[in-house]
Amino acid sequence: MGILDGLEALGLGNLKKIDTIYEEEHKNDEQEGVSDQPKKKEEKDFLMEKEFECPVCQRKFKQRLARTTLKCTGHDIDLRPVYEGIDVSKYDVIFCTDCGYAVLTRYFAALAPTHRKLLNENIRKNFKPQNRDLPETISYEDAVLRYKMALANAMVRLAKNSEKAYICLRAAWLYRGMREDAIQKGEKDKDKLKAMQDAEKEYLITAAEGFIKARAGETPPYAGMNSTTLDYVIAAIYMETDTNLKDGVRLLQDVITSRTATPQNKEKARELLIEIKKKLGE
Ligand SMILES: [Zn+2]
Repeated sequence: MGILDGLEALGLGNLKKIDTIYEEEHKNDEQEGVSDQPKKKEEKDFLMEKEFECPVCQRKFKQRLARTTLKCTGHDIDLRPVYEGIDVSKYDVIFCTDCGYAVLTRYFAALAPTHRKLLNENIRKNFKPQNRDLPETISYEDAVLRYKMALANAMVRLAKNSEKAYICLRAAWLYRGMREDAIQKGEKDKDKLKAMQDAEKEYLITAAEGFIKARAGETPPYAGMNSTTLDYVIAAIYMETDTNLKDGVRLLQDVITSRTATPQNKEKARELLIEIKKKLGE
């Protein structure tokens, strides 16, 4: 599948002609119920409302984001955090349904006039305004479209490779969450589950490509990560996707011998290295 498939419905089919994501780098308070039985919390209970002003069309709009007081229950091998009661990935894209502006929360900021112009000409002009309602929760399908819009926006405004790669990593995490959710709800359609897994893999591979380019052309931090964390994440993606395993070994050896990596990072790298070497031995 194409990585931007599905944006036709929003009027942005032409964006699919952009066939490369990455350019070559140019250096340069919780309310508890009062009843005796504690109410089981639902997804909506882990969300909060926040108002934003769109930096492209200036409309003020509200959006639901994950609360900041969530309980983290662990991390996947590629550092995806898992929280109790909610898949935070579903709520991490800020999306203006009037003009099509979309961005990951960590990158929400004022725009340079040149970038606003690019977004006006290449997204807003063709975008079909969507329903302004603020739903209690959003579906995985809606969340996928938001990530695709965030990636399309980043491509149009010539964002750094690290940002585009990070959007791809987060989109991969979203598909992983979608598949876990489907399995938990008893989904038996193997083709459906496989499609989610394939989409996750495609985004992971695209993320690793972008992180490699970012590593060569940008200065840290890369999407909030230092060099050793980034190397670890790239190696973890290689392990998860069964690609470039030998490069993964080299990256992890660099982390293990690095003078700046923390003991915890080195330990994680050692554990991952054992797993990759097992795969290579197979
Ligand atoms: Zn807007």
